[in-house]
Amino acid sequence: MDLRFNHANVSEYKSNAQIARVLTERWVHLNGYCPNCGAEKVHAFKNNAPVADFYCASCSEQFELKSNIAKKVGSKVVDGAYATMIERIQSDSNPHFFFLTYDKTSWKVNNFLIIPKHYFTPSIIEKPAVPVKELFIVKYSFSKHMEILFVHF
Ligand SMILES: [Zn+2]
Repeated sequence: MDLRFNHANVSEYKSNAQIARVLTERWVHLNGYCPNCGAEKVHAFKNNAPVADFYCASCSEQFELKSNIAKKVGSKVVDGAYATMIERIQSDSNPHFFFLTYDKTSWKVNNFLIIPKHYFTPSIIEKPAVPVKELFIVKYSFSKHMEILFVHF
């Protein structure tokens, strides 16, 4: 597995956010897999698809990628829309999640976690005590020993 991002054709993108999105999605396409059926590739939805980021062509499961610049995946997640997330994880097409952290100097992946969808229930989604604009906190515990925190931007 090559942890470096593939920078081919990213010069057409102007903003760092766009470039990071392209690089991380490309990496997941090349290195991710479907935890449901074991298919070796997942495929990106077209840009701005109102659904998840990836899908499996074999079993049709969907995936959301949460990535950020960090050494490791932390213990809490700050994400966008609370209601949207609740709705999403309660829907028939609730997604599996990919958590990816990377180094922006070397453009290499530091961590990549594939978390099956059955771990995501409304009880792990929290609203922060003090709302920060549209942000809210997603607190997720895999076990007593590990929690996930990520910042989606
Ligand atoms: Zn599959």
